[in-house]
Amino acid sequence: MVLLDNLRFSRLRDGLSKTRDSIRGKLREVFSRAGPTDETFWESLEEALLAGDIGAATSAEIVRRMREALKRGERQRLGGLGELVREEMRKLFVNGGLAPGQRIEDSPAARPYVIMVVGVNGVGKTTTIGKLAHRYKASGKRVLVAAADTFRAAAHEQLETWSQRAGVELIGTGSHRGVADPAAVAFDALTAAVSRKCDVMIIDTAGRLHTKTNLMDELKKIKRVLQKQVPEAPHDILLVLDASIGQNAIEQARQFDSAVGVTGIVVTKLDGTAKGGVVLAISRDLTIPVKFIGVGEQIEDLQPFDGNAFVEALLGDMSGNEPS
Ligand code: GDP
Ligand code: MG
Repeated sequence: MVLLDNLRFSRLRDGLSKTRDSIRGKLREVFSRAGPTDETFWESLEEALLAGDIGAATSAEIVRRMREALKRGERQRLGGLGELVREEMRKLFVNGGLAPGQRIEDSPAARPYVIMVVGVNGVGKTTTIGKLAHRYKASGKRVLVAAADTFRAAAHEQLETWSQRAGVELIGTGSHRGVADPAAVAFDALTAAVSRKCDVMIIDTAGRLHTKTNLMDELKKIKRVLQKQVPEAPHDILLVLDASIGQNAIEQARQFDSAVGVTGIVVTKLDGTAKGGVVLAISRDLTIPVKFIGVGEQIEDLQPFDGNAFVEALLGDMSGNEPS
């Protein structure tokens, strides 16, 4: 178990290396210019955190907490300013009302437990579904995936590849893809999931439509159709956000949430960007929990979000970052 945790943490660390290098570089620069008795120190510290995509409210909050901690003489106790940044950022997650990243239920009460995955094109929905299906399958669940992105020609093949990789069942549009109604696919898949007694059903959806149909209307329709069959479904609506768009992710989340009601967020592509701090902004600015993060393209590269571990991996050891 400890070994597994270590492995997971090192994947997280590796995945966050671009963001970590960027944020640490900026903090080091701030610490080398002035000390905490200087007002410009606090301004540049807040700017550095902001530039790290942590978000305005969170950056201001970290600075405020650090100032208070310094008044209490915490700097000596922790051994430096760098350690103080890390400590205050970490405490924001533990005590600051952040959603604790409760994950999708490992032992769902409902059967099938229906998860609908939404998000704009290219954010990593299909990839995330493959990884998620693998997680459930590996924990002994019978999983069925529904290919309700019927608009993109290659979408079905891509999901088929992931389903085979994960060793799970797939219901899709098959030979008449491109014609089928996404809601009809979702409905048929749910019928199959019920009759096959599947534990988990995951629905892939389109991120952009080629017809005049509005995307949000289509997603609402899928929801309605599922509810006709199983009133509690979908049990989770997961929104996938690409970390590399930074602060725009917040606005995207608000739009999807107001249209369909998002129950959890997955932030992907953390490994490819220096904007990974956006996960902290998402956690604090929205009331929707970040449930998973994507740190690579492999099937194992999906992790339940743990704020504590995230900050540890993001800042690493901050000692030795002191003003001279
Ligand atoms: P969709 O259009 O939302 O279904 O997005 P896809 O699942 O097709 O993913 C789009 C691209 O993003 C693919 O090339 C994926 O391999 C890539 N991708 C998805 N998640 C991650 C991630 O966590 N890290 C990296 N580096 N790439 C990812
Ligand atoms: Mg897709």
